[in-house]
Amino acid sequence: MPKQQYAKPIPTPSPETQRYWEGCKSHELWLPFCRACQSFYFYPRRFCPQCFGWDIEWRQVSGRGKVYSYAIQHRAFHPGWAQETPYVTAIVELDEGPRLYTNLVDVEPDPKSLRCDMPVEVVFEDISEEISLPRFRPVAKEE
Ligand SMILES: [Zn+2]
Repeated sequence: MPKQQYAKPIPTPSPETQRYWEGCKSHELWLPFCRACQSFYFYPRRFCPQCFGWDIEWRQVSGRGKVYSYAIQHRAFHPGWAQETPYVTAIVELDEGPRLYTNLVDVEPDPKSLRCDMPVEVVFEDISEEISLPRFRPVAKEE
């Protein structure tokens, strides 16, 4: 779709999130990783929220995870979504641990089609020249 038709809020990268958005632009999911306690975390910030360490690097993650929780949205909380209700918001728990607040796509917004712990994988939607948003879709079959 032409970007001028994109009517939803567009994220603005900050120094802390710049690397995250660069990854998304390449259709890769990169998260901060704490070398001190050997764990990923999200959202991006300059120190580890688990051990408060500052020895951080960025690593690519699998993009695989499972639905931790979801909600079917029947009312749009921003005019940009008004034409898309109902749609599905979700918290996805990545295989690497962190949980992301996101949308589920390629699935019916129906409780019969959705369940917690269903396996999902990341897909990216290019919404502007600079920004691609990570969404998650059901994995076709479990491996
Ligand atoms: Zn840590």
